[in-house]
Amino acid sequence: MAIAAFNLHRHYPAKNAGQNAIVSFDVSESSLAETWPGMFSIGLHPWNIVTTDTEKAMATVAEFAEKDNCVALGECGLDRLKGPGMKIQSEIFSHHVHIAESLSKPVVVHCVRAYPELIAIRKKLRCELPWVAHRFTGNIETASQLISHGIMLSFGPELRSSQKLRDVFARIPADNVFVETDDSPVDVEDIYSLAAKIKKIPTVDLKKIILQNSACFKAYDVG
Ligand SMILES: [Zn+2]
Repeated sequence: MAIAAFNLHRHYPAKNAGQNAIVSFDVSESSLAETWPGMFSIGLHPWNIVTTDTEKAMATVAEFAEKDNCVALGECGLDRLKGPGMKIQSEIFSHHVHIAESLSKPVVVHCVRAYPELIAIRKKLRCELPWVAHRFTGNIETASQLISHGIMLSFGPELRSSQKLRDVFARIPADNVFVETDDSPVDVEDIYSLAAKIKKIPTVDLKKIILQNSACFKAYDVG
């Protein structure tokens, strides 16, 4: 039986992104999430904080997060290069984390040059649920540190362009990784074939492992 390629994070709409995917809706797209029949995540992206009524937005996030097919909060997170100051970003991110903890759902994290702050928030709020750093492009030290704090890593189209990232991917345990297309038009199957080659295992084996990893998104039926 063919194993469906689990796509950790894709946007809407997206070609070639696979059906077995978590579609990421920004809170401004909540009308799309309203009728979306499949798995989704919802959050207030740090880039959008300044143009958003955050109180209203977070109430919407909390409301949609309760839906059964909302399998994660996010994407949300911290970005040192774009968006408002770290203080407000941390507040909004922590708000997502509180909602996630209260519903026992994982968080899909957007993090750019703010990994120490991310880990600090995870420690401070004593989070045990998995977080996934989506479209990870950091080095092996950062990767190991995140994994040791219970933050899994999702790799996207950059695996095709960066030898450095391929080396990182080769070295970290497969039970801590995901694969995603994000907003790129790349076929998710192509990322799987490449990722499996880097890991020197058959593509079907990588798909199986990642399917197992995806069990943390409880609403998703792995069987
Ligand atoms: Zn994205």
